Amino acid sequence: MLDFMASQLIREWSGIQQFPPATQDKLLELLGRLKEKKRDKLTILVMGKGGVGKSSTVNSIIGERAVTVSAFQSEAPRPVMVSRERSGFTLNIIDTPGIVEGGYVNDQAIDIIKRFLLNKTIDVLLYVDRLDAYRVDTLDKQVVKAISNIFGQEIWHRAILVLTHAQVSPPDSLTYNEFLSKRSEALLKVVHLGARFKNQDIESISIPVGLVENSTRCNKNGKDEKILPNGTAWIPSIVETITKVALTESESIFVDQKLIDGPNPNDRGKIFIPLILAFQYFFVLKPIQRWIKNDIDKEVKPQWA
Ligand code: GDP
Ligand code: MG
Repeated sequence: MLDFMASQLIREWSGIQQFPPATQDKLLELLGRLKEKKRDKLTILVMGKGGVGKSSTVNSIIGERAVTVSAFQSEAPRPVMVSRERSGFTLNIIDTPGIVEGGYVNDQAIDIIKRFLLNKTIDVLLYVDRLDAYRVDTLDKQVVKAISNIFGQEIWHRAILVLTHAQVSPPDSLTYNEFLSKRSEALLKVVHLGARFKNQDIESISIPVGLVENSTRCNKNGKDEKILPNGTAWIPSIVETITKVALTESESIFVDQKLIDGPNPNDRGKIFIPLILAFQYFFVLKPIQRWIKNDIDKEVKPQWA
């Protein structure tokens, strides 16, 4: 019965046939590379602020309208896992609602995501933001921090910084590539700060950047593939980056109950208990004993004596 239900949920990846032949060939080659390395399943988690293009990116990669895209707020409040199968290979992409609301990270949204992910293994994290923005702020740092708190810093070994709206015209003074490197540097810096990397970690953890243009007005090359202003066909390119990250040495993240519970707040202060007792002994108990002794001494010699 369960098998039957699972096979109902994992649909054939028919969206792949939507892509121009050149893209299809490259995608199948990449799936082949994964299968060669004995990987027959890949689970990708998509996270980021609301409205940055997470759901659109899921649909673009799958090649069909699998999840809801909304121009104005009110996303589906729950994560959705899209599963597609192609010649024995299963691709899972988990789309999540934005975790920010009214300028703050929403703990309830995080709880819902955590519960959804229980007993799943995350191979790749797509951390999504827009390329066509000029600022990073404390909110970005909070989102990175929240992701690091859920999965641990290790998640960033398996992350790709995905920048949507990649068909952007840079401001006059910059070339496309200059703008791209400025924007990604600024965001990566926020990731380093928010995830609390130590300086020596920053060299060992290099988070790749993937570019995405979900608009139907995206330019195309002679083979009908959607391309970026620098000429790259972006769908094969981001799937290649995903493949590389999936095949890195670092462990995938298994979401178990312990990870979901996080560090127990009741345990957090426990190491201080001996210190607090010692403090009380020397600075509270001792002085009181001294005062009592002084009083007794005074008592021994009554004033009238
Ligand atoms: P989410 O809230 O992060 O899931 O974002 P959505 O995928 O729902 O997208 C929010 C809005 O931005 C929708 O109107 C999308 O059509 C639009 N959008 C998403 N990605 C892109 C992109 O790469 N380029 C352009 N031009 N619009 C995009
Ligand atoms: Mg969405």
